[in-house]
Amino acid sequence: MSRIAYVDGRYVRHANACVHIEDRGYQFADAVYEVWSVFNGRLADTQGHLDRLDRSLNELRIETPMTRPALLVVLYEVIRRNRIKDGMVYLQVSRGAAPRDHFFPAGVKPTLVITARSVDRKVAAAKAETGIKVITQPDIRWGRCDIKTVGLLPNVLAKQAAKDAGASDVLFVDSEGFITEGGSANAYIVDQAGVIRTRSLTANILAGITRAQLLKILGSTDIQVKEEAFSVAQALGAKEVFVTAATSLVMPIVDIDGHKIADGKPGPVATALRAAYIENAIANA
Ligand code: PLP
Repeated sequence: MSRIAYVDGRYVRHANACVHIEDRGYQFADAVYEVWSVFNGRLADTQGHLDRLDRSLNELRIETPMTRPALLVVLYEVIRRNRIKDGMVYLQVSRGAAPRDHFFPAGVKPTLVITARSVDRKVAAAKAETGIKVITQPDIRWGRCDIKTVGLLPNVLAKQAAKDAGASDVLFVDSEGFITEGGSANAYIVDQAGVIRTRSLTANILAGITRAQLLKILGSTDIQVKEEAFSVAQALGAKEVFVTAATSLVMPIVDIDGHKIADGKPGPVATALRAAYIENAIANA
């Protein structure tokens, strides 16, 4: 069965799907995106991702490509046509295609692209059982990381540096030595007092939808959470370190820059939170 993509009003074979060479997403990274995980053919955290999409579009003054109900119809049609049970859906909206000029073009329709792919959850689960290694990298990204734009070159370079070093991801570190977030995920520690720490929502990090959901879940437990920055040294000395994203859900980190975290195995908090997140996502999808 061939994969199907949605491109500006048409469902096309993935292999033939394309946008114009003067699309502003291609020329200026003038585009925003969203990624959903799919459980049992249903989008997880649907409204949270749609709300963040609206916010990203508003911040960049890109027109909304279609109403929310219409968008949901297209998202589910892409899931259906690709027969996705467990997987991911990617959506991108660019300002549109126009003769190259830095100024916003007038009267141009945004370009909407949606793709989907299956994910083998057993492979992801096995990864979560061993945990991942990461390296730290200076956070050289722009000052509006709260907008989910496709301007991801610093993330690409950092993640490739991780791969070259035999690691799976990065933790970005700001100029003061505090961790901001992962290369494509939000970051957390469980400190020696058992408190979960994650950076507060500022322009320095993306407001993860998985993060929001996890904080909601944590709200009904007796685990204390502090939305406070933590340093690399604090992460190295933590009981547990983990990241969250729609792609990796809750993923334990067991090694930072070649230093083991605790005993080098995923800890009980991250492991329990991963199970709780998945259970909640399936129940609410
Ligand atoms: N931070 C960054 C830089 C990301 O790219 C992502 C996801 O792509 C996240 C955090 C996590 O966001 P979410 O939980 O909405 O997937």
